[in-house]
Amino acid sequence: MNDTVAAHPVKASVSHLNFYYNTGFHALKNLNMDVLQHKVTSLIGPSGCGKSTFLRCFNRMHDLYPGNRYDGEIVLHPDNTNLLASGVDPIEVRMRIGMVFQKSNPFPKSIFENVAYGLRIRGENNRHVLQEKVEQALRDAAIWNEVKDRLDSLASNLSGGQQQRLCIARALATDPEIILFDEPTSALDPIATAGIEELIGELKEKVTILIVTHNMQQAARISDYTAYMYLGEIIEYGITDQVFMNPVQEATQNYITGRFG
Ligand code: ADP
Repeated sequence: MNDTVAAHPVKASVSHLNFYYNTGFHALKNLNMDVLQHKVTSLIGPSGCGKSTFLRCFNRMHDLYPGNRYDGEIVLHPDNTNLLASGVDPIEVRMRIGMVFQKSNPFPKSIFENVAYGLRIRGENNRHVLQEKVEQALRDAAIWNEVKDRLDSLASNLSGGQQQRLCIARALATDPEIILFDEPTSALDPIATAGIEELIGELKEKVTILIVTHNMQQAARISDYTAYMYLGEIIEYGITDQVFMNPVQEATQNYITGRFG
């Protein structure tokens, strides 16, 4: 990490993070990185280098499969909660750290109920509060005007780009501190992709964003910071322009210029 990265407020500190799949495969090797608050940070690197595996540690997704094992810490600031600690409830972690997947995955429910889902899990049943929060999340995801007259219709009737923004609204509804995006535009056309990229740029005012993308142009366009990963390690991490224009490591240079990967 370079000095300029260290100068900003930190939202999450990753230290000595190792991750082992239940097959015994050692997928993440001693990762150390500070994720900066209200910034967009991209994880890039060749397929299979561990980007998704790393992203999924932040919201304890790997807990869904028995035998997976984390070692090390991801400490969330300012309360210094180690997200990986055994006493920390993964469901509560997922309220604080939302996730948006490659393929939009609305539930087979109405638009309204999709966005209200996490709030209901939290025990919020007050109709007025739900309406207010759902509207705000849909506004923040830049889809309110398109859906406000059909909140009761099925989410599956929306277009691909709209469904992805609905999933972003669903993630936003519980007021998360970080949103994880796993290749959020790879199933979208260029216009819908541009819309999501613009939205990510706006969302960072409210949340910290960590995004996995295989698209280097996208990483260069939307992220403030970039980490280049290879074989389960972080090879280089710094300001996006610097990583792309003037990488310190030759391996990064080779990847960025297309000589490798
Ligand atoms: P990326 O997102 O960079 O393409 P992944 O994080 O998906 O890479 O995968 C990293 C490594 O972990 C790969 O070698 C992959 O084969 C392995 N892997 C991914 N999922 C599993 C799993 N469920 N069990 C065992 N190994 C896995």
